[in-house]
Amino acid sequence: MKGGCEGLGTQKVAVFGGTFDPVHLGHLLIAQTASSQMDLDRVIWVPTRYPPHKCSQSLVEFEHRLEMVRQAIADNPAFVVSPVEINRTGSSYAIQTFIELQALYPAIQWYWIVGADAFQTLPKWQCRDILAASVEWLVAPRLMRGSAAGEVGETGWSDGIYLETQILCQQVANHLAHTSMPVRWQVLQSPLVAVSSSLIRQFCREHRSIRYLVPEAVRIYIEAENLYQSEVDR
Ligand code: ATP
Repeated sequence: MKGGCEGLGTQKVAVFGGTFDPVHLGHLLIAQTASSQMDLDRVIWVPTRYPPHKCSQSLVEFEHRLEMVRQAIADNPAFVVSPVEINRTGSSYAIQTFIELQALYPAIQWYWIVGADAFQTLPKWQCRDILAASVEWLVAPRLMRGSAAGEVGETGWSDGIYLETQILCQQVANHLAHTSMPVRWQVLQSPLVAVSSSLIRQFCREHRSIRYLVPEAVRIYIEAENLYQSEVDR
């Protein structure tokens, strides 16, 4: 299977990598915010086969995660899912994925969508210097442990978290300041949504409803395939 949509020319394309175990509304919201805010032509969703920072044995199978993303984004023509990591045997490193995507989609202005928690770990990523300078980072604010959220306004917006995210991004950029090109980043103006895949998995285990936390097609898929029922598929 090929990785995606050839012939895009010089378009603005964002990579959105994640474990997506399972994909949820927080993911969709930040991808759409990135798309609107940056006027992107495409968002390429890339389910990670073996995330280096997570225990792969406890993930549900890659094919399930890929299929759930496929179903979640089916109604959005600007979103595509890439199975580029399908043949990986070892840890999935973002740099390798990026090199493969560059070969599939030449001459593109690249962006990378990431939550603030994940962006914070960028200084530990493999070949971070090359990757950091090759894309513009679109960082979604996220409620994290220890966040001083302050007041969340009617639009779901929190000036406190926005500022906190900007400081965090600047710290990461400073950390990588020795790279040949400056790290380019901007904070996404996405409403804060405190949904995570861990929460969805927990709700499934506890037989609580996940309706409205994931797209309906994904909820039906999870039910039909009996996913996340036991401690094993956490
Ligand atoms: P888990 O709970 O299993 O750690 P997760 O909800 O963080 O999973 P991932 O697939 O690991 O989901 O996330 C993919 C990317 O989306 C990461 O960059 C993560 O920071 C970001 N992300 C996920 N959920 C949110 C959210 N609610 N708000 C902002 N960013 C998010």
